[in-house]
This record gives sequence, C-alpha cells and structure tokens, in this order.
Amino acid sequence: EQRDPYQAEFKEAVFEVLDTLVPVLEKHPEYVQQNLLGRLVEPERVVQFRVPWQDDAGNWQVNRGFRVQFNSAIGPYKGGLRLHPSVNLSVIKFLGFEQILKNSLTGLPIGGGKGGSDFDPKGKSDAEVMRFCQSFMTELQRHIGLDLDVPAGDIGVGGREIGYLYGQYKRLRGSQNGILTGKGLTYGGSQARTEATGYGVLYYTNALLEAQKDTLAGKRIKVSGSGNVAIYAVQKATQLGAKVITVSDSNGYIYDETGIDFEIVKQIKEVKRDRIKTYADQVATATYHEGSVWAFDTAYDIALPCATQNEIDLAAAELMQKNGVKYVAEGANMPSEPAAIEFYHQNGILFGPGKAVNAGGVAVSALEMSQNGERLSWSFEEVDQRLKQIMENIFHNSEAACQTYDLGKNYQAGANIAGFEKVAEAMTAQGLV
Ligand code: NDP
Repeated sequence: EQRDPYQAEFKEAVFEVLDTLVPVLEKHPEYVQQNLLGRLVEPERVVQFRVPWQDDAGNWQVNRGFRVQFNSAIGPYKGGLRLHPSVNLSVIKFLGFEQILKNSLTGLPIGGGKGGSDFDPKGKSDAEVMRFCQSFMTELQRHIGLDLDVPAGDIGVGGREIGYLYGQYKRLRGSQNGILTGKGLTYGGSQARTEATGYGVLYYTNALLEAQKDTLAGKRIKVSGSGNVAIYAVQKATQLGAKVITVSDSNGYIYDETGIDFEIVKQIKEVKRDRIKTYADQVATATYHEGSVWAFDTAYDIALPCATQNEIDLAAAELMQKNGVKYVAEGANMPSEPAAIEFYHQNGILFGPGKAVNAGGVAVSALEMSQNGERLSWSFEEVDQRLKQIMENIFHNSEAACQTYDLGKNYQAGANIAGFEKVAEAMTAQGLV
C-alpha cells in the first residue's frame, strides 16, 4: 500500500487475490514465515524504455515502453503486449500479476509477465504502426528470449503488430520464431490462436453451467467489446446454441435481438478496422446506442465482459441482477470493480474471474511455443481439443479448491487458490528467490 501509492489498478488486482488466500496461509504457516506474499507482489524485474518513432507527417514522436517480468517460478515469463493510451506502470503490473496465477492455472510451464506502451494505434496508418513496432522491438529484444520471456498480443496488438515486431526481431537477432506468439500461420503461428481466448471463454462458461446442471442452449448473452476476445466469444456462443444480443466498443454498443452475426463483426474489426456502429448500417434488425452496454436495461442470462478493466461498477452489477443475470464470466482482465464482485457473491450471481475464464489465449500461446520447439504444426482440431480440455480443467480445479477449502461456489477464490498453490510450492522449493 505504501510502496505503490499511485498504482490503483495494481493494488486492486493484488487485494482481490490476497483476500482469498487466507485459508491457504492458515494451512501453510511456512508461507507466512517465508514472506511468500511479500515476494509474490514484487516483480522480479521491471524494464521501462523510450520508444522514438516518426509519424507520416515527419514529426518525431516518443512513447513509453514497458516489460514487467513478474514471476518465473514455474517457467519463462509469458504474457501479452498492450498498446493503448491508458497504459502505465500500474496497468502493466496489474496485468503481469494476474498473469502469474492465470498461467499457473493452465497447467503449462509458464511464468507471468506483461508489457506494452501508451502508443495509441487508433487512427494510425499501417506504416506508422510498423515504425512504432520496429522501434519498440529494437529495445525489447535485449530483454526477451526463448527460455526467458516470450511476449504475445493483448489490446491493440493483433496479427499485424506481431508480424512487424517479429520481422524486426529477426533482423536484429536472427530467425527464432518461438520468441513471440500470436504469429501468422505462414511463419510459425498456431492454428486456433486467434480464436483461443474467445473460444476458451465459452468452454469455461459451458463447464460452469454444466456444473449447475444448466446449459448454454437458448441463453441470452451480453458481450462487451468487439476485439479479438469478443469476436470469437460471439462465434462460439452462437455455435453452442446461445444468442448474443450485444457487442460494443469504447463509444457505444450494438443491440440486435436476432443475434449478433460474428462474420460481420469480424469484417468490421479485423479487415476494415472500423467502429462498431457501422454494424447497424449493414444489419436492419440492429441498433446503435452511445454509452456503456452495461447500462442497457434488458432481460438476459449471462454477462461476458470482453473489453477492458473496470468496465462494470456496482450500479452495473445491480442492473444485471434486475435483468435476471445468473452468470458473469470475464473475457477481459479485471472488468468487474471490487464492489461489483462483492455484489455478485452476495446475490447468488455465479462469477468466473478473468484469470480463469480468459486463460485460453495464453494456453494456446504456450502450445504455439511447443509447436515451434518441435518444428511441427498441429491441426486446428487438435489445438482446439487441447484448449477445450485445458479450460475444463481450469474450471474443475477451481471447483476442487472450493471443495477443499469449503468455499461453496466462490469460483473466484477457487481459481486464485488453485493458481497460487503451484506457484507457492515452486517458489518454496527454489529457496529465497
Ligand atoms: P482488442 O484490442 O482486440 O479489443 C478491445 C476491445 O475492447 C475493443 O472493442 C475496444 O474498443 C474495447 N475497449 C478497449 N478499451 C475500452 C474502454 N476503455 N472502454 C470500453 N471499451 C474498450 O483487445 P482484446 O480483445 O485482445 O482484449 C480485450 C480484453 O481481453 C483485455 O482486457 C485483454 O487484456 C483481455 N485478454 C485478451 C487476450 C487475447 O488473447 N487477446 C487474452 C486474455 C485476456 P475500442 O476499439 O473503442 O478501443
């Protein structure tokens, strides 16, 4: 609290976890004696750097770059790069901290890290994005490595950006395609990586509903966001028989009672890089509204926030209850404010936290690393099947932790504990690190 007085997002992420770990500490007094939590919340390394680049008008620009290498107890640092004007050290530390437990939950040997920059890709030309990415990698390449730290995408970093970043890495250090994940399929990318986070959100949600003897078929779903996670959450939800009635961006949302058409959203966002409001120009049954999708008053069953942190406040959670929502599963990282989470627990809304629900992206990234290591590429079906299995394991391991510690259906605490136990054991085994 005193060390990082201004890091609001980081503190929010840390306190959300620490509160739920009390029963583990009671069972393992050695963790307290070894100051395990004190060590856990301190990143192993923080790198901050200048990113100079030139815009199309010839102006000299500068942004701030970050890479936080948070915890390598169970494997090399792994986590995405975010490009968004809101990026600062607090945001990257919150994401890096979440990543430690998320990566542990996948069951794969990957540690936690995160990076990014306050560069805003919106409205920039391809050439500007390329020059930025080349400059960013010119510094980042000193700090990453196949067995050290393997970055991926996040908000503002998709296939285009990973391509430019990898191209620059290759010029500087030679061909090593395992150095980044989320690559294109022609140069070492994995099948199903683009779809992985969104599909994973639905595989988790499906397992959550099955455990309540409920089904996705016929459910009404609100999705927020219209980026990588949201697009493939819409597709998989629809395939599983649910109806998605909204998607959004930071300006407003689309409501379509007949169900959002995933192909149209994909076309608008991935190909045209346009705003979501243009969806309503193409679909007669759809309407566009300014403002937050969480303030839209309509009956539905499942909330899948897939945009950004702190998009759901207490008032939004209260409206969910009024609207009949039974489940919230977080595709984004930390989209629910602490007061909203508290409200879910108190009102019987079952809650899947981001670090469990959205772990499919990093899981398939780790599978991409495996494929690069063996110089093979697996089929779409094989990767998708492994993803499904991993997401189901994550839900069931969280559920098992709930049983062990008598936590009822607090799957948030269950996920934190299931992720933490492995990291704690590894840190303890490695001594004073
Ligand atoms: P994208 O950049 O592809 O899309 C982000 C979407 O969220 C856009 O629709 C964007 O709208 C919207 N958004 C961003 N900021 C805000 C804001 N302040 N208010 C309202 N809407 C906003 O990112 P991703 O889909 O990759 O990431 C979405 C979330 O999922 C993030 O929290 C990310 O950390 C998390 N995540 C992503 C993974 C991945 O594999 N991509 C893996 C695990 C988690 P606009 O265009 O207006 O900015």
